Amino acid sequence: MVNKKEPKDQRKPLVVFYIVALAVLVIFNVFVVPFAASRSIEEVDYGTFMTDTESGKIDEVQITTSKILFKLKDSDKIYKTGLMNDTGLVDRLHSSGVKFSSQIIEQSSPFADFLFTWVVPIGIFALVGYFLNRQMQKALGDSSMMFGGNGGLGNFGGVGKSNARVYVKSSDGIKFKDVAGEEEAKDNLKEIVNYLHDPNQYREIGASMPKGVLLVGPPGTGKTMLAKAVAGEANVPFFSMSGSEFVEMFVGMGASKVRDLFRQAKEKAPCIVFIDEIDAIGKKRDNSLSTNDEREQTLNQLLTEMDGFEGNSGVIILAATNRPESLDPALTRPGRFDRRVPVELPDLKGREDILRVHARKIKLSDSIDFNKVARMAAGASGAELANIVNEAALRAVRDNRKFATQSDLEESIEVVIAGYQKKNAILSSKEKLIVSYHEVGHALVAAKQNHTAPVQKITIIPRTSGALGYTMQVEKEGNHYLMSKDELMAEIATLTGGRAAEEVEFGSISTGASNDIEKATKLARQMITRYGMSDEFGMVALENVTNQYLGGDSTLACSPETQTKIDNEVVALVEKQHEKAVQILRENKSKLDEIAKYLYEKETITGEEFMNILDKKPELETKE
Ligand code: ADP
Ligand code: ZN
Repeated sequence: MVNKKEPKDQRKPLVVFYIVALAVLVIFNVFVVPFAASRSIEEVDYGTFMTDTESGKIDEVQITTSKILFKLKDSDKIYKTGLMNDTGLVDRLHSSGVKFSSQIIEQSSPFADFLFTWVVPIGIFALVGYFLNRQMQKALGDSSMMFGGNGGLGNFGGVGKSNARVYVKSSDGIKFKDVAGEEEAKDNLKEIVNYLHDPNQYREIGASMPKGVLLVGPPGTGKTMLAKAVAGEANVPFFSMSGSEFVEMFVGMGASKVRDLFRQAKEKAPCIVFIDEIDAIGKKRDNSLSTNDEREQTLNQLLTEMDGFEGNSGVIILAATNRPESLDPALTRPGRFDRRVPVELPDLKGREDILRVHARKIKLSDSIDFNKVARMAAGASGAELANIVNEAALRAVRDNRKFATQSDLEESIEVVIAGYQKKNAILSSKEKLIVSYHEVGHALVAAKQNHTAPVQKITIIPRTSGALGYTMQVEKEGNHYLMSKDELMAEIATLTGGRAAEEVEFGSISTGASNDIEKATKLARQMITRYGMSDEFGMVALENVTNQYLGGDSTLACSPETQTKIDNEVVALVEKQHEKAVQILRENKSKLDEIAKYLYEKETITGEEFMNILDKKPELETKE
């Protein structure tokens, strides 16, 4: 259903180009060419001509109906003089041995003349025009170049004031099958595809489609992809613009862009209009001091446009945001973006599917355990998973292999989580020993408690992220939607295990635990303020989450006195788990030593190796 005709606006610059080219050509031929030609011919008076004839200096002559052109014997220069009623002229010329030319000396034929002054330049202009046209078409296809509604040569490259991007045909051919997981979101959007295929079915019964659909979720979960897939499935034009592109330096520019976008969209209906990062313009209009007129005007224009078109006009607006709570309520009321489609981080199955979708693009060995990779990459977004697969392929190339393997994938997860291995970071042997004990401390505390995920890998190879080592735990069976209080406490104990091991072994502490401390504190705080897991406060929300999809910031919602109590509880909670960790490590001191030494030698050990040493019967008993 793609419209073959170019819209007027896009052809306009080309028409202007042709008109200008033709004008230049005419001016050139009428004024410049004759002038240039006359320059090489010198005008002399008739007397001079007669004298030259007498003295026999003339070599060639041509008599036309209006003038006499002649050339002297010793030069190539052409002279010109007027025509006189001179009856004996021809005889005189003849007797002095002058050659009569019929064709003007040194002058090309009228045909060649015409060819060079008109046909060739027009041809050149036409060719230039043709290439310009092709460039424009390409640019439209890429959707990277913008054209303003007010055309003109000066407008190339989107310098103009209104530059809504012209649609991408069927949005790169992305279909629902390219978007792995996200089944609920797809189900929701399928209705829109159906509608775009057959609007009448809906019109007949009197139902109207929502004008706007809001895709909300964390970054990199495929919101843009889903919007493109809707356009791809329905095979309709796809207009896309980012919210931040609307907001310009000058008040009113953004509003004019919104108008332009909707005008183009209505011409192309049915179609999809996608506004990414809509929170850039759709922020709540509040009374804060830093009001932004440009943003408000843009938002008002958007609201007006959305109200302006009929529900069943075939224009569907999809918008994406990861800060839905900051949107202006006017934007989310019925009749505007009244449908909200959550696009969440993928679960285990989703992660596996996304890995498979992206794995199709690279060469892989046959024995890939996608499920295992997906389990290791808990919490990763679709974009991160795509990155992991690509990183694996890059690793294979670096090692001169033709395909990527399981270990490439596993290593690239670590790269994405912790950064590249720092090949030349030299730790002193003392530091290396401290890191070994620290990491084994985490692993041992995790293994000796009930509610923890099994250890997958322990390594003390430094990473570019600054981590000197880490312990990776992987859930046994995929999904984990709920966390019990016991699990959370065990998690805090595990986090403190690193520091605890340093204390138990060396009796001193290092800076290496800062990240652990941060995480443990955050968890403990959440338990008390949000999960209602404190003995003192019970089920009272003491904090509100403000940024659900971007790191989950929260603001305190309680009195200063309560804040002090919260702080005390957090300290007590973490300290209790820390003590538990120290106790676990004291009880298993011999294992701690043994595994730490082993890790110190090997630098990286698997969860299996770890468990083998841990489960081995203590040798002391047999020796004694
Ligand atoms: P968002 O708009 O939500 O920030 P994008 O749609 O731009 O995220 O996704 C970024 C990239 O991540 C995509 O180009 C794609 O390669 C990958 N990706 C994200 N989610 C998925 C998914 N569900 N299936 C396949 N690829 C995905
Ligand atoms: Zn640690």
